[in-house]
Amino acid sequence: MAEFTMELNDEQREVRDWLHGFAADVIRPAAAEWDEREETPWPVIQEAAKVGIYSLDFYAQQYFDPTGLGIPMAMEELFWGDAGIALSIVGTGLAAVGVLANGTEEQIGTWIPQMYGDQNDVKVAAFCSSEPDAGSDVASLRTRAVYDEAKDEWVINGTKTWATNGGIANVHVVVASVDPELGSKGHASFIIPPGTEGLAQGQKFKKHGIRASHTAEVILDHVRVPGSCLLGGKEKLDERLARAREKARKDGERVKNAAMATFEASRPAVGAMAVGTARAAYEVALDYAKTREQFGRAIIDNQGVAFQLADMRTQIDAARLLVWRASWMAVNGKPFTAAEGSMSKLFASETAKKVTAQAIQILGGNGYTREYPVERMHRDSAIYTIFEGTSEIQRLVIARTLAGMPIR
Ligand SMILES: Cc1cc2nc3c(=O)[nH]c(=O)nc-3n(C[C@H](O)[C@H](O)[C@H](O)COP(=O)(O)OP(=O)(O)OC[C@H]3O[C@@H](n4cnc5c(N)ncnc54)[C@H](O)[C@@H]3O)c2cc1C
Repeated sequence: MAEFTMELNDEQREVRDWLHGFAADVIRPAAAEWDEREETPWPVIQEAAKVGIYSLDFYAQQYFDPTGLGIPMAMEELFWGDAGIALSIVGTGLAAVGVLANGTEEQIGTWIPQMYGDQNDVKVAAFCSSEPDAGSDVASLRTRAVYDEAKDEWVINGTKTWATNGGIANVHVVVASVDPELGSKGHASFIIPPGTEGLAQGQKFKKHGIRASHTAEVILDHVRVPGSCLLGGKEKLDERLARAREKARKDGERVKNAAMATFEASRPAVGAMAVGTARAAYEVALDYAKTREQFGRAIIDNQGVAFQLADMRTQIDAARLLVWRASWMAVNGKPFTAAEGSMSKLFASETAKKVTAQAIQILGGNGYTREYPVERMHRDSAIYTIFEGTSEIQRLVIARTLAGMPIR
């Protein structure tokens, strides 16, 4: 187990500086254009693939870093560059982690390379869990997967929504219910290979922020996939279902609680994205406050402005510490006895919304225009309190954990 540290080691600092260079030189200059175009920034993803940032190798290296700081450090730097473009770059990684965590070696070897493509022909992947009637209450999802034993195929029907890269992905990972009575324990994940009949993109959403990231509905109409597309395989699924049925019979609530551990481990990564956006807006505001003069002096010389910057910086640093602690806990298998993963996501995402709004205020009229990036950063920051569990759901999880109540 690695000791918790608040300092990056030499190797991590090197990676951070390299990522920062890419974010500053490639991502940030492209941000306004792709935000206006509301399209996936394929050329930027390709650049990221060429230098090795858009790859499973890079993602896995950070993911398995025993200090737990690899992923938060990488997310903070990329999202400092621009949230929409960064999500287009890391969105595939989120789907790939689903396969890494649950897939067999053969599935990992077959599908993950197809998620990324190669640097001359980059591809993306999508993770499809949310549905029109199952957002916060993901256990109630209705997409059904039924096994056709005669053909060794799964038949999947349902409508997914809000899928990042949905419909444009080469590989979709779809969560479906194989036993609705077991709630989230009756869910299984399936690979939908490229070109599978019956999968279609529905509505593409026009969004408030992170507009460079593609978000759409995914319709699954009698989609047939081979048995080998069930992540982890049928034998493992049958064993898991049998255990879940037994547990549900004895103690239904404990079954529901176990599922929450996964979210606790993945939420700090979203917190780190929020820290990146908040830091970016704070830096613009600090710079502006030092150079903009009114009444014969820099506006930072007014306590009213300087105190805002002091609060912004304090909250960003506090958010980063919560994120790093939770990431370290996740990598080292520490139990989240106070829902520390949810805490980090809640605090960092609310901080990003607050800090980016303050940045607009400090830039005055300029802050309200698209000539300056803080307007975009403020729009982008609103997503952090919504996806991977809204702020209300984080509070619910933390409160119920503290109270010793079952998490529903
Ligand atoms: C841009 C974007 C990208 C996304 N990417 C993906 C993706 O790649 N894959 C994927 O599967 N999903 C994705 N999502 C979906 C996202 O995770 C959901 O939007 C989120 O979980 C909230 O669900 P909902 O939108 O249905 O809101 P609802 O669950 O309907 O919530 C509406 C409001 O009610 C509140 N609320 C609900 N229940 C409670 C409660 N018990 N107590 C208090 N308040 C409550 C919520 O906090 C919220 O304020 C994405 C969403 C967006 C907007």
